[in-house]
Amino acid sequence: MLATDTNEIEAALAAIGTGSAEKIKTRLYTERITVFNEQARANAIAALPAAIRNHRVTQGKLLRRVEPLLTQVLQLHERTRASQQPELFLFAHDTPTAQLWRGCVLLVSTGLAEPLYDGELAGIFAHELGHVYFEDEMTTVQQRSNAQAMHVIELKCDAVAMLSVKLLGYNPVLYLKGLQRIQVINKQKGLSSGLFQSHPELVARAQFAERLIKSLG
Ligand SMILES: [Zn+2]
Repeated sequence: MLATDTNEIEAALAAIGTGSAEKIKTRLYTERITVFNEQARANAIAALPAAIRNHRVTQGKLLRRVEPLLTQVLQLHERTRASQQPELFLFAHDTPTAQLWRGCVLLVSTGLAEPLYDGELAGIFAHELGHVYFEDEMTTVQQRSNAQAMHVIELKCDAVAMLSVKLLGYNPVLYLKGLQRIQVINKQKGLSSGLFQSHPELVARAQFAERLIKSLG
């Protein structure tokens, strides 16, 4: 692992601080939620690339599994009103990917939802929702195109993910297992790591995860 990776891990751990999962949650999960209405969601969906928009999964077993899982994560993040909740948009695609689109639509590919266990998937959802807490930071960092600072934000979103997984009653290590599983799938399929473009290397994320989980006890 590179020295820059180590610096990023230290910076993210320092930003998160120590304490119980509940305590860290109160610090990290801030009120930065944009309020959405039906129109905003409809506009966001209309603006999706056709390759995604035309492949929405609107029924079936997978959707019935994913929906309540997202609801649990949203409840944990106290996004209980419809106006605070992104719309789930499950779409048929092999590449494992999830992305919060325009802040109000959570894009999830079948290639991600199918192979991942519930606890793993909940972590991915929480990571994506976690970006909301660091939006101002992200804008500043993106303007300066500072890759290292971006990695620190990604690690902080990983922290949000692992806290969420733990507070939902799963083992937080499942989140890391999910990331590793995605990497294996990408390798098997010869895919570039679509989900991880702006993210630190998995080895750095793994070390960060191990340290965070240890500090949670
Ligand atoms: Zn991210």
